[in-house]
Amino acid sequence: MLIVRCKDCNKEITSTNKTQVCGCQNMMTVKGDSVTALDLSRVVMVNSTKKEQKSNVLTSQDLAFQEARRQRKVRKLDFEIR
Ligand SMILES: [Zn+2]
Repeated sequence: MLIVRCKDCNKEITSTNKTQVCGCQNMMTVKGDSVTALDLSRVVMVNSTKKEQKSNVLTSQDLAFQEARRQRKVRKLDFEIR
């Protein structure tokens, strides 16, 4: 299960077996373990089952900071598409 957020419209989507779309022009689409979008760099992975991220102990501001820092280091986000 994934929780991803679209930076364009700030909508957060928790993945399910059903296809979900954020609804803005970035067209972030979440289904199962896969995330697609027109621009994946504008999609934030909030939580992922196999990442070490301890997102539940951090505030959203901390998370935003971490995301910003991560993106400065690594441009490409690590998405798994199956
Ligand atoms: Zn969006």
